[in-house]
Amino acid sequence: MANYDILIVGAGHNGLVAAAYLAKAGQRVLVLEKQPGVGGAAVSEELSPGYHFSTCADGTGYLAPEIQKDLGLAGRGLSILPADPVVFAPLPDGNHLTFWRDTARTAGEIERLSKRDAERYPAFVELMGRVATVVGGIARITPPDLPDVGLGDLRAMLPLAGPLRGLGRKHVSDLLRILPMPVADLLDEYFESDALKGAIAASAVRDITWGPQEAGTAYTFLYNWALAGTGLFRSAGVVKGGMGALTKSLAAAASALGAEIRTDAAVERILVEAGRAAGVLLAGGERIEAPLLVSNADPRSTFLELLDPTLQSARTVQHVRNIKYRGSAARIHLALSELPEFTSLAANEAPSRLCGAIQIAPSLTYLQRAYDCVKYGEFSPRPYLDLSIPTLLDPGLAPDGHHILSITAKYAPYSLRDGDWETRREAFVKTVLDTLAEYAPKIRDLVVHQHVFTPIDLEERFSLPEANPHHGEMTLDQFLHMRPIPGHARYRAPLPGLYLCGAGAHPGGNVTGLPGRNAAREILADKR
Ligand SMILES: Cc1cc2nc3c(=O)[nH]c(=O)nc-3n(C[C@H](O)[C@H](O)[C@H](O)COP(=O)(O)OP(=O)(O)OC[C@H]3O[C@@H](n4cnc5c(N)ncnc54)[C@H](O)[C@@H]3O)c2cc1C
Repeated sequence: MANYDILIVGAGHNGLVAAAYLAKAGQRVLVLEKQPGVGGAAVSEELSPGYHFSTCADGTGYLAPEIQKDLGLAGRGLSILPADPVVFAPLPDGNHLTFWRDTARTAGEIERLSKRDAERYPAFVELMGRVATVVGGIARITPPDLPDVGLGDLRAMLPLAGPLRGLGRKHVSDLLRILPMPVADLLDEYFESDALKGAIAASAVRDITWGPQEAGTAYTFLYNWALAGTGLFRSAGVVKGGMGALTKSLAAAASALGAEIRTDAAVERILVEAGRAAGVLLAGGERIEAPLLVSNADPRSTFLELLDPTLQSARTVQHVRNIKYRGSAARIHLALSELPEFTSLAANEAPSRLCGAIQIAPSLTYLQRAYDCVKYGEFSPRPYLDLSIPTLLDPGLAPDGHHILSITAKYAPYSLRDGDWETRREAFVKTVLDTLAEYAPKIRDLVVHQHVFTPIDLEERFSLPEANPHHGEMTLDQFLHMRPIPGHARYRAPLPGLYLCGAGAHPGGNVTGLPGRNAAREILADKR
């Protein structure tokens, strides 16, 4: 029987990143994944014959460039096709806003809505870019162990010195002021156009359950900005072959470096011996032992299901129970017979304007109203829709001339007040398509197949409790030294020999690979 130094529970992209770094450092690593394939929430599936969708995460993800380079992903099948524009936002009056990578070009678009906002836009981009550099730096460090900060914590924060120096004294105070703000207040300080503010704020709330007027949404906004790699508030483009090609390239890198990956291998229990993690028990009854365990599963499942809660302190169990999950998005995939027409675009402009993200979030007020419903357990009658048509950059994802259109639809609360997702599914899909049809009236005529993932489907299919895409909300009270729980944010679980490497750990969600890389760094430091 093989001997392993480290077992990793889960082959999501973070588990694979951790496996690759650990194997690269000479560790004998076995990754155990319950699903038949690798990738977790970063996968592609042929949901209808000939149509290949990125089932959950889409676009290019936010995979850190240093990880791509360290693991040689370009040589293992990863090809990123960048998009410009970054965002196309149609408006109900037939106007539209397009955000290009070029600031002056975008300012030219904004001028149609407000001359004053167009003049202010470059200063906004400049300041946000500077502040986001520090947030990007924070994402790469191991959080300090507050309140007992030791020399090791200070050393871990050294990489922040450069970005902070670059920011300058005045802007450090800007950073501290901005992080806890509602993104709506931040935008109000710069802009007057509600449409412009809606288009920018949407990215801040796309993956969380808050609305733009909630405190701390400026932090999620800057987090996305920091990791997007576009010089703007979100990433743009696609992974050639879909998001699954990204995780396949990670799996190929991990395997080439010596890690073993077993799929269809659900871990049922983490084994504990003499007060340490000692191995795992698989669903079929097989025991595999190793001195170190790394969990890519979310913190709640790891601490309360895979581990016996009675073996942990009451304080730890309480902290874990307090982690907010509360997902609020559904995913709808449409196979289309042709490219949809948007009323605000001339047909010849469509292919070049629609290749980035398409946001139906025509004002800040609209976004906030869409959010208000979730507080009362209702889905939004006019939801915020985040669309992508990846076939514009990667036509091979659909049959010749056909397209795929994927929608992240918000807000769709995990728990509905009236009925459940089985009985309300059709009504929700109708609401989404009615909303889309206000901007692309013939959309229904083009649909060849449709696939719907309600929050319940996302939870069951992808092991995402309460359908939270990030293994816990990305809010300021679940940030840095509080992620996943206070006292255990440094990737080390309360149980000796057990580590966390998934999105529930710092810095959190999106396809960044950073929790996996940071965790591997800490594990190797402990082994030295
Ligand atoms: C609808 C939706 C849309 C999204 N859109 C985007 C986007 O556009 N861009 C972006 O960057 N991010 C997006 N995200 C978020 C992103 O997908 C996640 O943050 C990221 O994939 C988390 O990666 P992970 O490796 O930490 O965890 P996961 O991808 O959740 O992987 C965890 C793995 O562990 C496995 N596992 C769990 N328990 C066990 C067990 N007991 N035994 C064995 N294996 C186990 C699971 O099967 C899974 O493979 C989206 C997510 C969702 C749900």
